[in-house]
Amino acid sequence: MPESQSVAIHQFPCLSDNFGVLLHDLVTKTTIAIDVPDAAPYLSELQAAGWTLTHILITHHHWDHVDGLQDLKAATGAVVYGPKLSKDKIKGLDHLVDDGDELEIGPWTIECIGTPGHTLDQISFFFPQLNVAHTGDTMFAMGCGRVFEGDLPMMWASLDKLAKRLPSDTEVYCGHEYTQSNARFALTVDPNNEALKTRAADVERLRSEGRPTLPTTMAQELATNPFLRAADPAIQTHLGMEGQSPAAVFAEIRTRKDKG
Ligand code: ZN
Ligand code: FE
Repeated sequence: MPESQSVAIHQFPCLSDNFGVLLHDLVTKTTIAIDVPDAAPYLSELQAAGWTLTHILITHHHWDHVDGLQDLKAATGAVVYGPKLSKDKIKGLDHLVDDGDELEIGPWTIECIGTPGHTLDQISFFFPQLNVAHTGDTMFAMGCGRVFEGDLPMMWASLDKLAKRLPSDTEVYCGHEYTQSNARFALTVDPNNEALKTRAADVERLRSEGRPTLPTTMAQELATNPFLRAADPAIQTHLGMEGQSPAAVFAEIRTRKDKG
């Protein structure tokens, strides 16, 4: 992370299992919030850090990602960026973003990567100078979002896009602390994966200590997230789907998780 010496990133719990994320540049004082489940924890975090919020990025329209937006915007005057497809659903957007857009905010370029499936509007944000990404409710640690508005092939395409687009050393933040249940499910489809077994044990320990399991890295996800590993021969064999398309294997894994 060559230019990251001047960035501080704070992640903190919001609501029951959401995260708030703040990125702060020590030189320009640019401070970005990603998603606002609730304004209060953001305001306390900003106050404790002595930061003034300048920008807000929204990943998708679900209430648990925007409920605090109006209050946080009113309290800080921050400029809000959010998905073009939700311009009529989210109140308070100042700038609309779409797949392929590049934002210049403070010292950072931010790449907007359309990752539909969970919702159609979902945007993941990638900060290439920092090697940091936020994948909203598209990719979680060892999991992925439930497919509500898109379809299974669309969600697979979005996860595959992230896998190909984000360098393996990218530090990844996401919308929810779902890691423990994701790990337990992952072991049912990829039971002989040593990296997964080790990580699942780490997650059980972290959660028993009340600690967060995020951020993750793309390298960790590629090694342990079954939803990214639909082309893996061991998973395909375990599911009795040798040689089938990754999209079909992904669909089977997602369907099993929905039933679980
Ligand atoms: Zn959501
Ligand atoms: Fe959510």
